[in-house]
Amino acid sequence: MKTVTAVINSKALVHNLRHIRSLAPKSKLIAVVKANAYGHGLCQVADVLSGEADAFAVSRLGEALELRGHGVSKPIVLLEGVFNDSEVRILAEKDLYTAVHDRMQLEAIEKAQVAKPVHCWVQADIGMHRLGSSDLEEIGLIKERLEKSPNVVKPVGLISHLSVADTPSEAAYNEQQQDRFFEIAEKLGFSGELSLGNSAGIYECPRSHTDWVRPGIITYGISPFEDRTGADLGLVPAMTLESSLIAIHHLKKGDKVGYGAAWTAPRDTVLGVVACGYGDGYPRTAKLGTPVWVNGRRVPTAGNVCMDMLFVDLGPDSQDRLGDRVVLWGPELPVEEIARASGTIPYELVCRVMPRVNAEYQG
Ligand SMILES: *Cc1c(COP(=O)(O)O)cnc(C)c1O
Repeated sequence: MKTVTAVINSKALVHNLRHIRSLAPKSKLIAVVKANAYGHGLCQVADVLSGEADAFAVSRLGEALELRGHGVSKPIVLLEGVFNDSEVRILAEKDLYTAVHDRMQLEAIEKAQVAKPVHCWVQADIGMHRLGSSDLEEIGLIKERLEKSPNVVKPVGLISHLSVADTPSEAAYNEQQQDRFFEIAEKLGFSGELSLGNSAGIYECPRSHTDWVRPGIITYGISPFEDRTGADLGLVPAMTLESSLIAIHHLKKGDKVGYGAAWTAPRDTVLGVVACGYGDGYPRTAKLGTPVWVNGRRVPTAGNVCMDMLFVDLGPDSQDRLGDRVVLWGPELPVEEIARASGTIPYELVCRVMPRVNAEYQG
């Protein structure tokens, strides 16, 4: 009997990246594999996509070193840049590209003793107020000093991030951010490469299809939009989180289930216990009745999610057996829907799949 397993479909990853390429045919693709490739397995995903992506992006140096250690030779971009001088030397050694968002990072790069120059992208803030300056002068100063430094490959690039490309009600703000990006590039005479689009931008903002785009969530077949699933976008979900029925109980109407007796059988029914809980990454906030896929149909959760298990109401006519396969999310049951039922976004659910969950790669 299988306990909880994240089955990763390699063909889906390849399909998704090719689909993304068809959507932004003029752009090079940086597959974003931060946070353990959104829970799908950092090195395994990089292996699958090594023939498809033009580069990979991560947030932390440790993630980049893991990729290099694994033998990944494609360019790797550090989206948050470096946090001290000694890391700059590693950038050069390991041939990593880095975003540069402030003077501290600039000075670390200027000061470092490097064996060869480093590829840099100046990070500009165009409306998110996360990383980078929004001030034209400050961005220009960082650009000029980088381009003057012998430690830096010339010309430097410009990178920024859209904050509302997935939010239809903020369309005007989204346009304003794109205007600002191109205004910065033009006014400061950036002759290096530009990188703007994320997943939502690739679908909704053709102007964000710059030299490089940075697809994250869509690489995994998941939608960045609240009102659409990956399948609606022509994508195939790469992860199936599955487990088995490990206990079956015949309940009488009125029987109370689980911690806190949070669910009471409304009629005589059959209760299934599934070997998957919040200790595996299934959200405890999933509301009662969140769908689970068992033997070709949706059944509702019943009772509070436990650390290692959850309950499902299989219904009075259940023919289900011990060991039957259960899908918590996957192509049969969109993770977007489970996220909505849990008050979160699908990004968080896939990122939070816990280390104890077996990963199985197919295709
Ligand atoms: C995470 C991230 C991405 C990918 O975002 P998605 O919405 O998953 O496509 C792209 N760029 C930056 C800077 C990021 O931090």
